[in-house]
Amino acid sequence: MDIRAIEERYTSGVYPKRELVLVRGEGVYVWDEAGLRYLDATGGQGAALLGHNPPAVRMALQEQMNRLMVCPEIFYNDQRAALLRALQEVLPGNREWRIFLCNSGAEAVEAALKFARLRTGRSEIIAARRAFHGRTMGALSATWNPAYRQPFEPLVPGFRHIPFNDIAALEAAIGPQTAAVILEPVQGEGGVWPADPAFLQAARALCDRFGALLIFDEVQTGCGRTGRWFAAEHSGVVPDLLALGKGLAGGFPIGALAFPAEWGPMPVGAHGSTFGGNPMACAAARATLETIRRERLVERAERLGADFRERLRQLRSPLIREVRGLGLMVGVSLRVRATPVLRRLMARGVLALPGGPDAIRFLPPLIVEAHHLAEIAAALEEALVETSLPVP
Ligand code: PMP
Repeated sequence: MDIRAIEERYTSGVYPKRELVLVRGEGVYVWDEAGLRYLDATGGQGAALLGHNPPAVRMALQEQMNRLMVCPEIFYNDQRAALLRALQEVLPGNREWRIFLCNSGAEAVEAALKFARLRTGRSEIIAARRAFHGRTMGALSATWNPAYRQPFEPLVPGFRHIPFNDIAALEAAIGPQTAAVILEPVQGEGGVWPADPAFLQAARALCDRFGALLIFDEVQTGCGRTGRWFAAEHSGVVPDLLALGKGLAGGFPIGALAFPAEWGPMPVGAHGSTFGGNPMACAAARATLETIRRERLVERAERLGADFRERLRQLRSPLIREVRGLGLMVGVSLRVRATPVLRRLMARGVLALPGGPDAIRFLPPLIVEAHHLAEIAAALEEALVETSLPVP
């Protein structure tokens, strides 16, 4: 069976493919069909937060699939209740949260946009340049990249984009018509740009002044990735709506949107999802949160991430412009395009992501060890040396 040929022929074609057929994973590694091993610094695009096939998540899923796989939210369920309780322990702020459960990051963002409009009775949403919030029509309207947006216009009306980290621009844009401001505390797809704490604090104050809601999209930054349970904690700002996805269930599909319990419940029928809150995803997410806590992975992300960035800063390649990030969300911005460097990294057994056109983005699993990070840095150094050589 020619796997690549079949996929080339029958898949939608919307992804830029890499020349790699992955058939197995364990911890920080994945293997291709020829048995070659790769260090996965994409962390499954951030979803393999605990590494590939983490034992605790596997066990939780196996147990749950023998009991009950489907349970729409019109019924109560033990796994869902346990997850909702576990999330209270880790979500930021001294408050209770209600949580809409869904299946992906974009869905969590959609829920945030709908609930913000419903709660305020207003329609305008302010997002940031370089922002990425997903590719469904509502989330795409908040996403910035014109190449993603233009073919699908008209998008949802009422969205505008201001420069990230620009307090004056936000102050000029926000007003009594604003339903919400949506921000990534660290912009991920856009190139790993941490928000200035002062910007997030100003956003909080401006939202409060105008009765607008503050949405944090923590789909990529949440659950320990940045060295805090949630990246919001770096600034001390508590958002009104907090969107989660990616690694929340240790690699199993899930999304979640948290809003303050003091709002009370949303009206019946305001939103919904057949698979939202399904017991498999809930069991996996519970096991994930428990593992992060037990293995102290949040502290680890902070410590290892700082060491990794320091190591990358010492590489001294003329092609490196800047090393950015928080915790184990790390970007290396380059003076050349990222794609050829990613290819050369892959040839050295390291998988990484782009962040914008000219940055390499690393989202290694939080269980990564110092020697893995040293390997990644060494592979990048070699890949950059090769990139700087003139083409023969
Ligand atoms: N928000 C952010 C910040 C993201 O990084 C992503 C995915 N890269 C999304 C939303 C969309 O998530 P999903 O692909 O699960 O729909």
